[in-house]
Parts: sequence; C-alpha cells; structure tokens
Amino acid sequence: MNWKLAARAAKMNPSVLREILKVTERPGIISLAGGLPSPKTFPIQAFADACAEVLHNDGQAALQYAASEGYAPLRQAVADMLPWNVDPAQVLITTGSQQGLDLVAKVLIDPGSRVLVETPTYLGALQAFGPMEPNPVSVASDDEGVIVEDLVAKARATGGRASEDAARFVYLLPNFQNPTGRTMTEARRAAVSAAAAAAGLPIVEDNPYGELWFDEAPPLPLTARNPEGCIYLGSFSKVLAPGLRLGFLVAPKAIFPKLLQAKQAVDLHTPIFTQRMVSAVMKDNFLERHVPTIRALYKRQRDAMMAALKREMAGLDVKFNAPKGGMFLWARLPEGIDTVALLPKAVERNVAFVPGAPFYADQGDPRTLRLSFVTASVEEIDTAIAALALTLREELAL
Ligand code: PMP
Repeated sequence: MNWKLAARAAKMNPSVLREILKVTERPGIISLAGGLPSPKTFPIQAFADACAEVLHNDGQAALQYAASEGYAPLRQAVADMLPWNVDPAQVLITTGSQQGLDLVAKVLIDPGSRVLVETPTYLGALQAFGPMEPNPVSVASDDEGVIVEDLVAKARATGGRASEDAARFVYLLPNFQNPTGRTMTEARRAAVSAAAAAAGLPIVEDNPYGELWFDEAPPLPLTARNPEGCIYLGSFSKVLAPGLRLGFLVAPKAIFPKLLQAKQAVDLHTPIFTQRMVSAVMKDNFLERHVPTIRALYKRQRDAMMAALKREMAGLDVKFNAPKGGMFLWARLPEGIDTVALLPKAVERNVAFVPGAPFYADQGDPRTLRLSFVTASVEEIDTAIAALALTLREELAL
C-alpha cells in the first residue's frame, strides 16, 4: 500500500528522549532519568474504596457517556482547590494536562505561529505543539525563569508576513519546572504578568508540580494575577497517580468554547468513571492529608541527592541547583562534557539520567542534565550519584 503521509505527520518524531533513554532500560540500572512519581505515594486503598462506592451508588452513570466539560462536582472541586476566584464553568477536565497542551496548540497555533518558551522547557510541550507547526522561540531565562526584557522583545509582531505576527502565547512553568526544578520568584511573576498584560501576550501556565513544595508554598500562579490573560493547566498525576490520566485547564470565557470543541473532537470526554472515582477519593479533604506525605518523602529524597552530589562531586566543576519542590534537579557538568555521549558510559556503571539538550527549543547546552530524585530510594540515590561521579572522573581522565 502506498501510504501518503500528511505533512504534519512528519512533525511527529519519536521523542528524542525516548530514543536516548532506550539504553537505560537494562535491568539493574538505577534510573534517575524518568519523570515517574514515586509509586509508594499512590493511595491504592482509597482508590479501591472509591471504585466500589462509585460502582455501587452510580454505576450506570459512571459507565455511560458524559459531558465534554467534565463531571460537575469535580469541576467544582478543582475551582475550590485553586487560590483565586475560579468559576467552575471555566474549568475543563482533560485527559491529563498533556491533553491540555494539545488542545491549546490546536486552538492557538497556525503553521509558522511564534510560540514563546522558556530556556529550557518541557519537552512534552514542544512535542504537543509540534504537529501544529509553530515556530518555537526560546526566551532567555535565568534561575528564576524567563527574562522580562527578552520576553517583551520576542512577543512583539515583527511586521509583514503572517509567520512574523505577534507571538500567540508564552508557555511558562513557574513552579519546580520540568526539567530544571527552578521556581519563578514573586518579583519575577509580578513583572512577567504585568509585561505580558501590557504586550497583550497570552500566557499558558503549566503547573503540575505546584503542590509538591517542601518548605513553603510557592508564590501565587500567574493566572491568579490576570485570569483573563491566561490559560492554566493542572494535573492529578503528581498528587494522586499519573495512570489516571486526569488533568484540567482553566480558561477565560473568550477562549473556553473553542477549547471545549477541540476536546469534543479528540475524545468526547475524559473517562467519567475516573472522574467520579477521583471526586469520591477527594471527599473529606483527602488531598490535605495525602499531599503532605508526598512532600515529606520527596524532600527527604531531594536532601539525599544534594548531599550525595556535594560528597561525590567534590573537586569537580559540577554545578547543581537546590529545587524547592517538585521532582527534578538540574546539573551542569565541567567544560567539554557532552551528557548525550556520557549517558551510555554512565549506563555501563548502572546509572541513568536525562541529558539536558533535548529540552531546549533551539541550541541545547550539552553540559546539562536532569536528575529525578523521586523514583529511586535514598540508598539507590547514593549508589547512583557515586557511579555518576566515577563515570565523570573517568571521562575527565582524573
Ligand atoms: N506538563 C509538565 C511540565 C509535565 O512535566 C508533565 C508530565 N511529565 C505534564 C505536563 C503532563 O502531565 P499529565 O498529562 O500526566 O497531567
């Protein structure tokens, strides 16, 4: 058969990362690579009870087609959870926040549209936007996120052709960013929010990690400061379980119906059984008891990883940050190291990480890497960081 592929199919490449990480699938490897929440945190008994309750009380409705917007009590629960005044009518329940990214792309991106992203940014967002053929533009970023002057400069229309129109939106991850673990300060949020509003630049704010703070809650989301100028994406993946594939978005009235229509076309609605089950799980403030246990676990693991890095990398020019929450730590290795080339050598020593370069919309920094501190145990983290240091010393011929 002569399959003629659509032009957009050419944009659907296998994730660079998945290809790179194939070498890490060997048994015996301690993986600091995956973005997997710790399965120890999944509240299995609470799900079992809620499942039985939903099937017993509302079995027929739970197994029937349902509204594309989502289950009303869950939309209300989401609105109640968020720290600004959210009308549940503006909440759309999505099949993971990854679907939120897909819907945003379909509704806001034309071929050639400029989409502004952080340096580096979440690879899955670049993948979700890709088939709509945007022109992703990296905004210069520091430890606090995007630099406002560069954001404003790149937001502007450059005149002339449609492809040079004003940027359609900026995609931002203010809390414990994937991949860097960095957090946008209060001052930067205020400045970004004001600058985007003044420039008429919509913000797409992705916040799957915001609840996973260690010592203090992060500053208010950007969306809370200007709900009319932002689409907010949230997720149950990191506070309950990613296998649920349950997320949500909050969008202004001006754009909500289009996102809803896009959602209808994709999958009619998010599985209603899952929505009802999660709604049942969340009764009686379950998350208020459950999430602190995740925070405590991840904080211990972050501390273990930072201690191991300090110990094992002593004397090497290795820089790493101190994430205040989330799942990831970002490191930069000495001059001359390319982490893509280093990975197979680390795998030989039974440790895996994610090279940083694929997270950049354009030229990546080959010295960077992302380490997850949540999936491996404290003992495994110690072993893995020691093995990584050994690999590095060998590479540097020390
Ligand atoms: N956004 C970011 C920044 C993520 O890290 C992830 C998960 N890796 C997602 C969105 C997608 O999450 P989900 O679809 O599970 O809600």
